[in-house]
Amino acid sequence: MFPLPEADGRTVDDFPDHTSEMAALRTLGLPVNGFLGTALDAAGVHAHLDDLQSRRDALDYQIDGAVVKVDSRPQQVALGSTAKAPRWGVAYKFAAEEAITRLRDITLQVGRTGVITPVAELEPVALAGTTVSRATLHNWDELARKDIRVGDTVVVAKGGDIIPKVLRVLVEMRTGAEQPLPPPASCPVCGSPTVRREPEVALRCGNARCPAVMAGRLRLFAGRDACDIDGLGGRWIDLFLERGLVKGPADLFALDRETLAGLPGWGGKSADRLLAGLERARRRPWAAKIFALGIPQVGVSTALTLARNHANIDKLIEATPVSLADLPDIGPIVGEQVCAFFTADDGRELVDSLRAAGFFLAEEDLPPPPVAVGDNWFAGRTFVLTGTLETMTRAEARAAIEALGGKVSGSVSRATDVLVAGAKAGSKLDKAQELGIETVDEEAFARRLADGRDGDAGKDT
Ligand SMILES: [Zn+2]
Repeated sequence: MFPLPEADGRTVDDFPDHTSEMAALRTLGLPVNGFLGTALDAAGVHAHLDDLQSRRDALDYQIDGAVVKVDSRPQQVALGSTAKAPRWGVAYKFAAEEAITRLRDITLQVGRTGVITPVAELEPVALAGTTVSRATLHNWDELARKDIRVGDTVVVAKGGDIIPKVLRVLVEMRTGAEQPLPPPASCPVCGSPTVRREPEVALRCGNARCPAVMAGRLRLFAGRDACDIDGLGGRWIDLFLERGLVKGPADLFALDRETLAGLPGWGGKSADRLLAGLERARRRPWAAKIFALGIPQVGVSTALTLARNHANIDKLIEATPVSLADLPDIGPIVGEQVCAFFTADDGRELVDSLRAAGFFLAEEDLPPPPVAVGDNWFAGRTFVLTGTLETMTRAEARAAIEALGGKVSGSVSRATDVLVAGAKAGSKLDKAQELGIETVDEEAFARRLADGRDGDAGKDT
């Protein structure tokens, strides 16, 4: 049994019952649920469960039930346990909360692997503390099995997870106007014929270059667990695809500042932020890079296992289903998927293009990181130089500012961010002060330059 801290030394067997054990844990400062209660008989247990269920929506965490335990420790010991679980405790599940609503439409979602999922568009209905207007229908087999039709009155529920689902149709509510929706013959996004890879039940878009598939891949690639690219949200990915700027993740690395800065809603600052984010992407941990490839069945933890057992991309490509099956948590199915990914044309293309973009270089083989332009004091700000600089020429000062992502302008206006005032500064200094513009002398300017060049990002002293 697990010991309590040394100062105490008691174990679970030193407590007469579960209640006093929990009380001891609470005095030690450990979080113990406040809804713990005791009952003398079954009616008391049910009363407590009913009370808990009535409070369910008001809790700031989700619960799907409660555990009923025998309180007395000697009785627990007497009851013992099976190979799987103690005989003195049982999980009581609340009935899933259900609501009745009308299914207005069924829309199709194309995921990053090309799988086309039917989604129920519902008349909004209150369910378990939230308003639900969409629910997953999983796949076409399920849709057919439950005989769900557009216009149906349906029962929706929230199961263990957050996404609600359609449980069943109230057939008796049908008017005859309800329409079944056959599986689509073509992709709703690109129009390519759909395919079904036996023995899968999923229906897929057969086009590896489907914009929905590319958008999904790019989203995964840029996401937090993958490359964590700052400044690349879903709407920008859609914009890049629309404009034909990228077709896959590797194209991101070829984007240039000028193109980016000219996009609607963009500017120098956002361009620099993205470019710095892409530079950091090349330095992401190896496991994150594997996850970023979007190999089917490979989540964050599988990617970590693959990374620990394969030093680099070449070693990973050489892996076989047999060698992978030996790794912890990777069964034959995942092993097959990994190998199939690297032998399929689009997987190979993705790897080759990323390799060409320097994505798989080890940290030590990468050129030294440039100053994170997006992060330093100069980036995206407009400077005006005035007066005489002692340690550098105007041209040198201008070049230094621009190298760190700043701009230099000739006259002071409301668009000016910083005035660099050398000796004998005149009217520009007066105007800057009048407009409340930040002013630095040469010494402070030189210090900022040194910080910027060292990549001393964002140090605002
Ligand atoms: Zn498609």
